[in-house]
Amino acid sequence: MEEESEIWDAIVIGGGPAGSTTARYVAEGGKRVLVIDGRDSIGSPLQCGELVPTNNEMRRLCPDVPDIDDLLQTPEVAISRRTSEMHIVPPSGRPLRYPFEGMMLNRVLHDEWLVELAASKGAKFLTGARVESVDGETVCLRDGRKFQGKIIVGAGGHNDPLRKGRWSESSLKIPIKFVLMKGEFGDAVELHFGSMAPGGYAWVFPKANGANIGLGIQNKLSKGKSLNSLADGFISKYQGEVTFRGAGSLPMSGSIKQFVKDNHLLVGDSAGMVLPSNGAGITIAMIGGRIAGQAIVSHLDNGTSLHQYEKEWKRQMGSVMRNSKISFKMGSWIMRLPDWVLNIAFNPITKPFVWRFVTCRKPFIIF
Ligand SMILES: Cc1cc2nc3c(=O)[nH]c(=O)nc-3n(C[C@H](O)[C@H](O)[C@H](O)COP(=O)(O)OP(=O)(O)OC[C@H]3O[C@@H](n4cnc5c(N)ncnc54)[C@H](O)[C@@H]3O)c2cc1C
Repeated sequence: MEEESEIWDAIVIGGGPAGSTTARYVAEGGKRVLVIDGRDSIGSPLQCGELVPTNNEMRRLCPDVPDIDDLLQTPEVAISRRTSEMHIVPPSGRPLRYPFEGMMLNRVLHDEWLVELAASKGAKFLTGARVESVDGETVCLRDGRKFQGKIIVGAGGHNDPLRKGRWSESSLKIPIKFVLMKGEFGDAVELHFGSMAPGGYAWVFPKANGANIGLGIQNKLSKGKSLNSLADGFISKYQGEVTFRGAGSLPMSGSIKQFVKDNHLLVGDSAGMVLPSNGAGITIAMIGGRIAGQAIVSHLDNGTSLHQYEKEWKRQMGSVMRNSKISFKMGSWIMRLPDWVLNIAFNPITKPFVWRFVTCRKPFIIF
């Protein structure tokens, strides 16, 4: 049982990829860190498409992020299968094919492993404990308990209580539904675009013995069609026993302007650390978590400003995030076009540009 009287160096709300990674690096720096999570098994239930790029692919996607292999350690048990191609599929169903080294995770095991990794460095975890609010250096739980920390980190995802209490900036959220389905679904990860997923995309990601299939939309572009009916329509095209149904929400405005207010920090989804042009959030949350953790240690040891975290994020991820936001905005506009126009637009000539959009590079080399 964690002592309520103790003053922690840092308290992290949420033990997902962002929170566990922050805690790992704070603990590695020799500091006392407590992670508080509302779930009693962190990572369950599944809320994810479960696709991450391999570390090689991450080095290409995020060239300014150092030591990727130290940050992103994925144990074999958490990998369902590896993939080597991505298909971008317009409404016609005729894909543009790209080489892409991906890993389909067993996300629940992946998140449990991140918790174990942080714990092995000395981080403490309090689970099944929901945070209600934060008041200065005090974290107040729903059950009435209170914990004190010199620094408080909001890593509670898109409904983080610290973000809700202290930040007024709003983020566009994309609602998502997905299923796990048994069967054989080929070798490529597929992203489908068109009127079947207005303003978003649908996916079919093959796993070892089935697939993760899902769909996310922008409500304002869905012309009255509900997420449920669009998801059912897309998923029903595939045959197989559905073994799990899940839903969630993804922040798609890119990272927010300010991550630090006094001794309060946000990281991961709560700070908008998702690449809007492809929905990648797991590895990006971990990049943010490492920078936040290291900035906290340096602040506690040497009095360095916590705003160093924002500066370092911009240095490592600024251009990737900027390009991804531009791609998402242009993509949202293009995706309003009728399906027959999209079918023409996704062609061998535009193929390299489409890939630049998805992989967060400048859409056109000239600007
Ligand atoms: C349906 C779906 C599919 C996705 N697919 C992919 C994908 O294929 N690839 C990819 O890279 N990304 C994907 N993402 C995004 C990815 O899951 C997130 O970006 C990532 O999980 C962010 O990590 P996080 O630690 O910031 O937040 P989370 O993983 O959401 O973790 C937040 C933690 O905080 C806890 N918490 C929340 N509120 C409180 C509170 N008040 N008190 C205590 N604890 C609290 C939660 O229990 C949770 O454990 C998907 C997201 C969704 C919703």
